[in-house]
Amino acid sequence: MRLSRYFLPILKETPREAEIISHQLMLRSGMIRQQAAGLYSFLPLGKKVLDKVCAIIREEQNRAGANEILMPTIQSADLWRESGRYDAYGEEMLRITDRHKRDLLYGPTNEEMVTDIFRSYVRSYRSLPLNLYHIQWKFRDEVRPRFGVMRSREFLMKDAYSFDVDFDAAQIAYHRMFVAYLRTFHRCGLQAIPMRADTGPIGGNLSHEFIILASTGESEVFCHRDYLDMAIPSEAMDFDDAARLSSIVKDWTTPYAATDEMHDESAWNAIDESQKLNARGIEVGHIFYFGTKYSEAMNAVVTGPDGKEMPVHMGSYGIGPSRLVAAAIEAFHDDAGIVWPRSIAPFDVGLVNMKPGDADCDAACEKLYGEMTAAGLDVLYDDEEGRAGSKFATMDLIGLPTQVIVGPRGAKAGEAEVKDRASGARDTVPMDNVIARIM
Ligand code: ATP
Ligand code: MG
Ligand code: MG
Ligand code: MG
Repeated sequence: MRLSRYFLPILKETPREAEIISHQLMLRSGMIRQQAAGLYSFLPLGKKVLDKVCAIIREEQNRAGANEILMPTIQSADLWRESGRYDAYGEEMLRITDRHKRDLLYGPTNEEMVTDIFRSYVRSYRSLPLNLYHIQWKFRDEVRPRFGVMRSREFLMKDAYSFDVDFDAAQIAYHRMFVAYLRTFHRCGLQAIPMRADTGPIGGNLSHEFIILASTGESEVFCHRDYLDMAIPSEAMDFDDAARLSSIVKDWTTPYAATDEMHDESAWNAIDESQKLNARGIEVGHIFYFGTKYSEAMNAVVTGPDGKEMPVHMGSYGIGPSRLVAAAIEAFHDDAGIVWPRSIAPFDVGLVNMKPGDADCDAACEKLYGEMTAAGLDVLYDDEEGRAGSKFATMDLIGLPTQVIVGPRGAKAGEAEVKDRASGARDTVPMDNVIARIM
């Protein structure tokens, strides 16, 4: 992509309304634009990161055996009356009336709708286990939308729903998602710690929030330092191996980890002071087993081996990709701007032509641009005229992992400068070695 053709509305000043660094940087780098309170457009740079995050989520959901679907954003109030949540959900739900005076709502979540899909087709225990997910916009009329897309009213959510014959099978489904989540956040370059969460009236221990540590996080968290260097299950993980899944989950839930809501002082006090991590965190994912709550209310039953009908056991598994983009910036930035983890960076490389119009610079840049693109690198080519300082500032602000800088002198000598955004290290490299150097 050539910068001259790219829509990258960089802001020079930090917008006053943005309180936290990710919100400031997302506005300044032209990733998002606020359209109304808690409603954001994703501009090209932001959309690319969001898509990368979604692609990783999708791959890991599919790997774990979940099926992607797409349910509408607008739902019928009648479905929610069946579960009893239409009245119970309260003011976070946006209620809508259509021209025929029918009650609709903008979905804040999809348990009812997915349960309706399930009950319409599935009859037998033999069709289970089943996990259906989608990545779709949700609306919650948050009392205090703030921090940009971190807590917006309309936001993207990946929500998966599992259906199983009994508790034991549902627990395996839960473990599958738990492990898929470990892999997902890790692949996004993030360290997310699973913390025990409230299970409400269901009880048990099958509810975890995945939390990223960040000083601007809304929850206070308490966890053991062991979490900071635990191994992530590999790509070769067999998601049908229930024993293996269970042992990974056991390893990841044994050291202490809880948010303020679930914090247990006495368990905390038993931990060696030097091993304690008391910090702030951002909830990027939440997994939850809720048993037969919806299947009973909505008559989602299957026939068991004995021919008897039974309500299915369900769980739901959410990730907020739009929040995750902001959380990644909270975790990775410096004074100059964003420092993207490679896997979710909007482009791999920023190629900077220091003097567009100079024959040597143009020729060298065009050649590099073509070769890098052919090598599979996604390149943002700054082919615009501008002061050196402002070109560098823009590149640093948008945080692409590698910058390749070509000036008139280097172009003549057949050299480019390669800068690593994270470390700031710069190297002069012969043109022919640039790609090898980056890959
Ligand atoms: P929070 O505690 O932050 O209000 P939640 O517990 O209400 O979140 P869930 O119902 O567990 O959220 O939804 C699953 C995921 O959706 C969350 O873990 C989070 O990543 C994302 N999410 C929820 N609310 C928002 C929001 N207002 N803006 C952006 N993402 C959100
Ligand atoms: Mg909430
Ligand atoms: Mg929460
Ligand atoms: Mg939650």
